[in-house]
Amino acid sequence: MNPETLYRRVRAHLTIKLQHDLLSQKVFLDDLTKVFNRRYFDTHINKIQLSALRENTEYALLLMDIDYFKQYNDIYGHVEGDVVLHLVAQTIANSLQRPSDFVARYGGEEFVVVLPHTNEEGARCVAEKIKNNIYGLGVLHKYSEFEFVTISIGGATLLQSDEGNMDILQRADKKMYAAKAQGRNTVCF
Ligand code: GH3
Ligand code: MG
Ligand code: MG
Repeated sequence: MNPETLYRRVRAHLTIKLQHDLLSQKVFLDDLTKVFNRRYFDTHINKIQLSALRENTEYALLLMDIDYFKQYNDIYGHVEGDVVLHLVAQTIANSLQRPSDFVARYGGEEFVVVLPHTNEEGARCVAEKIKNNIYGLGVLHKYSEFEFVTISIGGATLLQSDEGNMDILQRADKKMYAAKAQGRNTVCF
């Protein structure tokens, strides 16, 4: 084997491997917020649910939505809105401690957090921490009665009788709306 040819081949293979890794990373990342995207959530949630059922353990799901975000964009502009979305996403990510916990951008200004091996008590703690950390950023929001950007969080845990992840997602979604109804900047289970 010609050393020059060998070198070129190895280099070509390494380039392909690098490109492949970068692509598979991008496929699951949200461009704006740099946290996982909806595709990542949809792809992984079934596996998490099946493991929980098999291992007979609980897992928790938190659905959260930034309060008065339409008004934030209206007052401060979309560019500033995007900056806040990124900051909120990173703050949620930094509030999670276990390697198996993750946050994904679920839609516009909604995020979903998955907490494997976590019961309601533990999930409430994490949710309160996220809520407080967002408020603690101190991002001014003139329209809000809280003065700062805040988030409403709905939580649910997998009940062993449940089937399919729609149930837990729907329950968390209902609780998120309950948190809005209770005045926002609130955690509801
Ligand atoms: P609520 O407290 O009830 O959640 O009110 P809200 O204004 O946050 O809710 P609504 O669903 O009416 O508004 C969501 C807004 O989020 C709409 C849009 O202006 C904003 N939004 C969604 N995605 C993006 C984005 O990628 N960038 C920016 N800047 N804004 C976004
Ligand atoms: Mg929304
Ligand atoms: Mg909102």
